Amino acid sequence: MKDNSLKPIPSWIQGGENSGFPLNNLPFGIAAFNSGLIAAVTRIGDQVVNLHKLAALDVFSGLHAKLLHVFSQPVLNDFIELGPQVHHDLRVRLQQVFGLDNTDKQQIDVIKSSALTSFNAVRMLMPVKVTDYTDFYSSIEHATNVGKMFRDPENALLPNWRHLPVGYHGRASSIVVSGTSIHRPMGQTKPVNSDAPVFGLTKMLDFELEMAFVVGKNTALGEHVPIGKARDYIFGLMLFNDLSARDIQSWEYVPLGPFLAKNFGSVVAPWIVTLEALYPFRVDGPAQEPEVLPYLKSVEPRNFDVQLEVSIRPEKGNENIVCRSNYKYMYWSMDQQLAHHTINGCNITVGDLYASGTISGRDAGSYGSMLELTWRGANPLKLDDGSERKFLNDNDTVIMRGRCQKDGIEISFGECETKILAAK
Ligand code: MN
Repeated sequence: MKDNSLKPIPSWIQGGENSGFPLNNLPFGIAAFNSGLIAAVTRIGDQVVNLHKLAALDVFSGLHAKLLHVFSQPVLNDFIELGPQVHHDLRVRLQQVFGLDNTDKQQIDVIKSSALTSFNAVRMLMPVKVTDYTDFYSSIEHATNVGKMFRDPENALLPNWRHLPVGYHGRASSIVVSGTSIHRPMGQTKPVNSDAPVFGLTKMLDFELEMAFVVGKNTALGEHVPIGKARDYIFGLMLFNDLSARDIQSWEYVPLGPFLAKNFGSVVAPWIVTLEALYPFRVDGPAQEPEVLPYLKSVEPRNFDVQLEVSIRPEKGNENIVCRSNYKYMYWSMDQQLAHHTINGCNITVGDLYASGTISGRDAGSYGSMLELTWRGANPLKLDDGSERKFLNDNDTVIMRGRCQKDGIEISFGECETKILAAK
């Protein structure tokens, strides 16, 4: 199942190779069709494949009796719970059925006429019911930049940072799918030259470029996930925008961490790319110094090479790319995060979401937030319409994209897009 090889798998659906959605990808999502029907889908090229319809056509015969049922559900949780063997068998079946080698013309004709829809003709919905949400803080470049700005330029990293993947429990209720707009939040902030807080709209609304993994297997209370087994508990990965109000955050976060500065809205891309599809893109993580405790010791390669970018599109304007980063920069990896999260016996559930923390690289163009890109507003970004941004303006749209590329094969994570609206 954990195959490192990367061979193109041509499909009778044209265009998959260049779209980021070849048969090597096969991400999962939930689509609403024009007819009003909702179903689990995958994507090949610009075609959305209705998995419920395929199950009804008996394309998945012999795989699992529950597939017809789970693919009619409004979220993927029940499908995810079927387990990695079913996911793998389904992937292989899809690659056979949609591969160029399929000689069953009749089957192809029926699929073409009843199970394929143009991506532009569907509305993508939230792919999972998020059961619990944790956000980590696992990029050493991001943690160092924030530490320099908010605390001490000389000792930016707190003493625990290199010893454990720092994280906090977030809020699941306000995680929404790409395409959902978010209103500028209000809250308490404290002006620099005053001892008393004021109430009003955030003036420092920011994005955080992150990736989030979805848990694919439950544990019981008291159980640990050993680091060597952690990947068996991960179904797949999504793009994640952890919107943040920096002025609210800097006033409220001591001593218990982020609260209202973060839970007014976070946005995920509609596609969950499976860990199996990502396996060929594993790379070594950065060296960890000092050496981590044994329960956090991961076997290399522990990271994944995912190229990431963030654009801002002003109202009626063009997209301006403001950040280019990579998931491989992460100091702490997914398996380390999960091993740490469960080492005290905390139980995890199918549908849990674990976000990476802002993904920043070393150079200034790779910083994953406006806070870092503009150094807390000191160096505003210039957009191509001549306007400047210290943070996000009303009516700005933030678009995140991610892709893996190797040996001529591209795996896309789709887009994670959200528009900032004026206060409600
Ligand atoms: Mn975050």
